[in-house]
Amino acid sequence: MTRTVFITGGSAGIGAACARLAAAQGRDVILTYNSDPTGAEAVARDVENAGRTARILRCDVADPAQIDAAFAAIDPGTPIDLVNNAGIVGQTATIAGLTPERLSHMFAVNVVGAILVARAAVAHMRGCGTPGHIVNVSSAAARLGSANQYIDYAATKGAIDTFTLGLADELAPEGMRVNAVRPGLIETDIHAKGGEPDRLERLSHMVPMRRAGSAEEVARTILWLLSEDASYVTRTLVDVAGGR
Ligand code: NAP
Repeated sequence: MTRTVFITGGSAGIGAACARLAAAQGRDVILTYNSDPTGAEAVARDVENAGRTARILRCDVADPAQIDAAFAAIDPGTPIDLVNNAGIVGQTATIAGLTPERLSHMFAVNVVGAILVARAAVAHMRGCGTPGHIVNVSSAAARLGSANQYIDYAATKGAIDTFTLGLADELAPEGMRVNAVRPGLIETDIHAKGGEPDRLERLSHMVPMRRAGSAEEVARTILWLLSEDASYVTRTLVDVAGGR
């Protein structure tokens, strides 16, 4: 039985590209959104137009109760893979601008949320008796540090890398593979949301391939990691960053 792909942050960007590609590859999708139901509905329509089913769930991953509710809403017998993708950046800031409120929210979404989503997904996989696979969406920022932009965001992604290694070790004996992708500069709205709509134009010259990547290029790597073509790949951090 083909596993359904459960995608957090499926209403935009990389998560939306994963949903569309999963459907094109013949897989059903459950996608969550936080603030953009219209975006989620548009993605779900594309999935359905590709002949697959799409279920939309609202889930702010900064709220543990909403994570539990989202997983409680799915049929316990449905085998799933997880794309642990929801994430945010902050406005450009140096260390002086990293307030306790900003740090709490950044870590609540990008780290605590991602870990609790993985916890709920593993419980679901164990409950339904079919091992699934997990891809955590990290960032090249975990390697680069993002000085003078958002070192707090980079630190959250460093945490995701380490979490990926440990979770992969814990789950390997159960046949569940856990990997991360580390996208570089990717064409999505996240840059504008962080107050830098021209970020890709400004920084693309620093990429050895001299261009930003597309959300679909990241999605292709994620779907490959979830597939049987990657059957012996676990505990790996895959850079999708044009050489940066
Ligand atoms: P995006 O276009 O801004 O999409 C972000 C997605 O995450 C949206 O679906 C959004 O949902 C969801 N989201 C945001 N806050 C959430 C919350 N509190 N709870 C649940 N969902 C939430 O960003 P993207 O570029 O596709 O980023 C996706 C992932 O890739 C993130 O983890 C990001 O850190 C990582 N990444 C991106 C890049 C890049 O250059 N784009 C590079 C490296 C890593 P709503 O719109 O419904 O609120």
